[in-house]
Amino acid sequence: METIQNAIGGGKITSNSARKGAVYNPATGEQIAELPLSTAAEIDAAVASAKAAQPAWGNTPPLKRARVMFKFKELLDRHAADLARAISAEHGKTHDDALGEVQRGIECVEYACGIPELLKGTFTRNVGPAIDAYADRQPLGVVAGITPFNFPAMVPMWMYPAAIACGNTFILKPSERDPSAPMLAWELLMEAGLPEGVLNIVHGDKEAVDHILDHPDIKAVSFVGSTPIAEYVYQRGTKAGKRVQALGGAKNHMVILPDADLDQAADALMGAGYGSAGERCMAVSVAVPVGEKTADALVEKLKPRVESLKIGPAADSDSEMGPLVTAQHRDKVLGYIDKGVEEGAELVVDGRGFSLQGYEGGYYVGGTLFDRVTPEMTIYREEIFGPVLSVVRAPDYADAVRLINGHEYGNGTAIFTRDGDAARDFADRIEVGMVGVNVPIPVPVAYHSFGGWKRSLFGDHSIYGPEGVHFYTRLKTVTTRWPAGIKSGAQFTFPTL
Ligand code: NAD
Repeated sequence: METIQNAIGGGKITSNSARKGAVYNPATGEQIAELPLSTAAEIDAAVASAKAAQPAWGNTPPLKRARVMFKFKELLDRHAADLARAISAEHGKTHDDALGEVQRGIECVEYACGIPELLKGTFTRNVGPAIDAYADRQPLGVVAGITPFNFPAMVPMWMYPAAIACGNTFILKPSERDPSAPMLAWELLMEAGLPEGVLNIVHGDKEAVDHILDHPDIKAVSFVGSTPIAEYVYQRGTKAGKRVQALGGAKNHMVILPDADLDQAADALMGAGYGSAGERCMAVSVAVPVGEKTADALVEKLKPRVESLKIGPAADSDSEMGPLVTAQHRDKVLGYIDKGVEEGAELVVDGRGFSLQGYEGGYYVGGTLFDRVTPEMTIYREEIFGPVLSVVRAPDYADAVRLINGHEYGNGTAIFTRDGDAARDFADRIEVGMVGVNVPIPVPVAYHSFGGWKRSLFGDHSIYGPEGVHFYTRLKTVTTRWPAGIKSGAQFTFPTL
């Protein structure tokens, strides 16, 4: 069985921690690797290495830093299938889905290739008599990222390409469920010519996270994961004086207006609800058809689609949906389905009891569809993060908007309609950070930024794109004049023109 190593100061290092975690293949239930739950001393070593590397890296011309990114992008393109296989083996998502994740990660690297332009400052001649001013953004120093299991390659790439392109050095604490893809990407980045110590990876759990949050040499933390942990990371990190962006969980609604093409809407719900077994923070987990007629017709279209979902291991190219990530998570999702039945929702398709011949040990749950879910039900209020779609019937458009705006999460949402006025009104009024109009999963492209509202994001910055560059830099403004422009004599009044 493989033993996962840390990556500190340019080399892979076997941890001496007595505490270990297990990595499973969710398709079969077999343990495939052992992972160290790193000690505080190991995190200190990673931070020391990042701190030593930062001044030279921060002073490296942005164009040279960009060249490393260009090379990294080329290597990622060449190894995309290897990365996708590493993701599928530990996460369980299908190969094509994993390839899509790698591609969206590569796009963040492509954005970081533009860093010389992105860091270009501003200059004003003659802000006063013979006085000039310029402003530019400088790196923070050592920064850290803590990432979730569901996008083991892409979410770290929301963070470290921008952070290091800006001149910071980075400590990544990946999810302990699927650590191999970020390690492979680290190897490629070293091959691309990244100096030692600029990107370090330490594996671990809460203990590692707490040590990162309290470490005085770490200036900023990016976190992506569930809401309770995001809130905790934000509070503890900011209390320790750090800049923190902490992205949390979601409950994404898709509104279907009566004029929508219902086949298109049903297909969109299948991909957005059941793709990656619902383990996406932008998954649609609530369909909100407006009006009883729309709801009846939509459920009629969804039922056979959900019943015929092709569920299987990533190795089977016919699979549309894989297993859940761990046995514990599968049991949690099954518990939510029981709860939905208990609380009176109408179970249209029951995914419990699903089993796959030859893969009986895998963590599979069948596609599940609930109708007549109401806002007080647990399955409506809480994030399930599994292949469970709830239909909440809204009597009219205003109710649909009220429903979404009343939810504690505000990550993504979508509306399906042919009515431009309604779509525009929806985009204006909805209290959600990312909105799709006839686009079910409106994840912004790499040169925009990603971020939810309300309890889906703690902090002032969204992640990647322009907001990423802002998060990983701080503004400095310099005002200059030279002796020929200085009048003799002290001036005691506040300087004005
Ligand atoms: P998680 O919160 O369990 O773990 C995320 C990270 O936090 C991991 O690195 C983990 O080791 C660490 N962690 C776990 N428990 C901790 C604790 N008690 N103290 C300190 N650190 C701890 O999340 P997950 O199950 O890996 O990922 C799924 C969640 O992530 C879902 O809620 C999903 O919506 C969310 N997510 C959000 C986004 C977004 O952009 N908003 C993107 C992807 C995933």
